[in-house]
Amino acid sequence: MLDFDVAQSRLAAAGKPPSISESCTLDQARGRVLAQTLFATVDMPPADNSAMDGYAINYADYTPGKRFPVQQRCYAGDPAQPLQKGNSIRLFTGSVIPEGADTVVMQEDGAEVDNEFEIHRPPAQGSHVRPQGEDVHAGDQIVAKGTLIQAAQIAMLASQGYAEVTVYAPLKVGILTTGDELIQPGQPRSPEQIYNSNGPMLAAMVENMGAKVVHLLHAADTEESLHSAFSTLLASCDLVITVGGVSVGEKDLVKPVIGQLGGSLDLWRVCMKPGKPVALAHSGTTPIVCLPGNPVSAFAVFTLLVSPLIRTMQGRTQVVPDVQYGRLSTDRKFNDKRDDFLRVRAEYSSDGLSRLSPFTQQGSGIISSLPWASGFARVPANTVMQGGDVVAYYDFQHWLA
Ligand code: AMP
Ligand code: MG
Repeated sequence: MLDFDVAQSRLAAAGKPPSISESCTLDQARGRVLAQTLFATVDMPPADNSAMDGYAINYADYTPGKRFPVQQRCYAGDPAQPLQKGNSIRLFTGSVIPEGADTVVMQEDGAEVDNEFEIHRPPAQGSHVRPQGEDVHAGDQIVAKGTLIQAAQIAMLASQGYAEVTVYAPLKVGILTTGDELIQPGQPRSPEQIYNSNGPMLAAMVENMGAKVVHLLHAADTEESLHSAFSTLLASCDLVITVGGVSVGEKDLVKPVIGQLGGSLDLWRVCMKPGKPVALAHSGTTPIVCLPGNPVSAFAVFTLLVSPLIRTMQGRTQVVPDVQYGRLSTDRKFNDKRDDFLRVRAEYSSDGLSRLSPFTQQGSGIISSLPWASGFARVPANTVMQGGDVVAYYDFQHWLA
C-alpha cells in the first residue's frame, strides 16, 4: 500500500505549472491565478488623513478652554488649506490633514459655536490621524504570483489602481463519471438506479478552485462508451478526472480502456480510508486521475490528493492542504489498517485545540456526513485513537473554498 503523504506529493508533482498567461480586467479576475507578482504603486493612504469626523488643530495651539476659529470646512476629496496658527479646520473621515495640523479632535469631544470649535476633552497629540503609508508603502509587494484572486486581493489591487492584471489561462478539467446504475438528477428513476451525485459534486469542487469544467460526461460500463468519452476529454482538457469503475470488478473497465488508449497507468492502493483505489495515468502530458466511486471516497480523494495536482497545474504557490491539530471528542475508539480520515466537525475550545466530533456514520457512502462536517481528522494506520487524543485536522471547508 502506498503511504498517504507519498501519494499526495506524487500527485502534486504529476502535472506541469501553466505556461500561458493573459491579461484580464480586475472585474474578471476573481477566481483567476495571478501570473506576476504585483507591487504597490503609491503609499496607502497616499496622504495623512482623518480617521474621524472632527476638527484638525495644531496640538501646540491647545490650551484648556481655548476656542479655535473654523478656517475651512474640508470634505473628503477637497484640497485642504494650510492651517493658520490658532485655527481649526473642520474635517470628515477621509479628509486630508491640512499642512500645519497634527491632531484631529473628534466632534463628540467638543462643540462648534458661532463658527468656533471649543474642545471639551483634552486631545492626545496626533490622535485620529491615519498617517500616509500606514497600510502599504509604494514598492511593497501586495499580491504574489501564484495567488488565487479573491475579494481580499481584489480590494488590494483596486486600492493600488490596478485595472488589469496578468493571470494564467484557466485550467481546463474534464470529469467522467461511470456506472450503469446512475442517472442524472431530474430524470425518472427506477428502483435499482441512483442519482449521479459525484459528477455535480466534483464539478462544483473544480469550479470552486478556479479551474474550468469543460466537460462533465457520463459513460456506461462498456468499453465503447468509455472510449468515446475519453477521446472527447483528451482532445480538449488539461486534466481528466474519472470516478468509479476503477477497482477490480469485471465492470471496472476504466483501467483497461486507459491502457488501450496508450496511457501509462499506476493503480495505487493508497493507505487511506475512505478512498483506497486511486489511479494516475498520463496520456501524452495530460494527467488522468481515477477516483473511487463511493461519494465520500471521491470527495476525500479529491480534497486531499487531487486538489494539490490542480493547484500545481493552476500555478498556485500553496499546493498541499494545511494541517492543523485538534482533540477528538467522542466516546468511540478508532483504529484501522489504513489512515482513517474521519468526517468531523471542529468546534472552538478554550484550551486552544479545536474539539473534533466525528459524524455518527463513517461509511464511504454516507453523503450526509459531507455537508455536516468541517474537515477530516486523521487517525494514523494501526493506531487506536479515542476521545481526548490529539490528531491532525484538515479543514476542507476553507481549503476548498
Ligand atoms: P464503483 O467504484 O464504480 O464500483 O462504485 C462504487 C460505489 O460508488 C457504487 O455503490 C456506485 O454506485 C457508487 N458510485 C459510483 N459513481 C457514482 C456517482 N457518480 N454518483 C453516486 N454514486 C456513485
Ligand atoms: Mg461502477
